[in-house]
Amino acid sequence: MIDFHCHIDLFPDPSSLIEEIEVSGIYVLAVTTTPKSWGHLQTLLRHSKRIQCAIGLHPELVAERSSEVEEVCALMSETRYVGEVGIDGSPKLRGSFELQRKVFARILKQSSSLGGRILSIHSRRATTAVLDALSDQPGFGSAVMHWFSGTRKELLRAIELDCWFSVGPTMLGSKNGRGLVEEMPMHRILTETDGPFARFGGIAAKPIDVSVAERALASIWNVSQQQASEQILQNFRCLIG
Ligand code: MN
Repeated sequence: MIDFHCHIDLFPDPSSLIEEIEVSGIYVLAVTTTPKSWGHLQTLLRHSKRIQCAIGLHPELVAERSSEVEEVCALMSETRYVGEVGIDGSPKLRGSFELQRKVFARILKQSSSLGGRILSIHSRRATTAVLDALSDQPGFGSAVMHWFSGTRKELLRAIELDCWFSVGPTMLGSKNGRGLVEEMPMHRILTETDGPFARFGGIAAKPIDVSVAERALASIWNVSQQQASEQILQNFRCLIG
């Protein structure tokens, strides 16, 4: 199983979660919200084979931390994975919208100059702005749209731009989210949890909860859960080359 967007460093006890992941055999992309957590996470993950670490700067933090974008860009030479990055157009973040655009464009430019990176991208209420930024920077690498919540028209544009999508139990549990997933090409889908921010069953979602997403995808694709799981693993291998 694959959890392509999990905030391991934000769980109360990251070390025991890392142990659980190693035992369960799940592949995890550990995204970060600021470059300040990079060093510590690297140390925690030094013995892990199943968990890859992504360097990020969460759009919700850009208003206070935009100066850290150069740290992100410097650390991008150490990893293939970048996230969580993107743009958030929620009303409370409207004041930093232009700054978020600039920071995201800077990260895409850096990805491009490094020959391409794999990005886990946040686009809440800002799908068009995110897709515009991707179109403006060809060669940035691969975009994995995390918890996509745009319109159907925006989804079609994202598919046209060759985006990938990571979908979790909460998204698949909502009517709107499920409707979008039904329109996504099955070979472009990965699973995620977004724990501990996303909750499942009343508690913080853990990587093991991607099994719930697999079950929902199996029902959408009309295949067994085992087949859905294999499809996602195959997608993951294709993404990472
Ligand atoms: Mn997240």
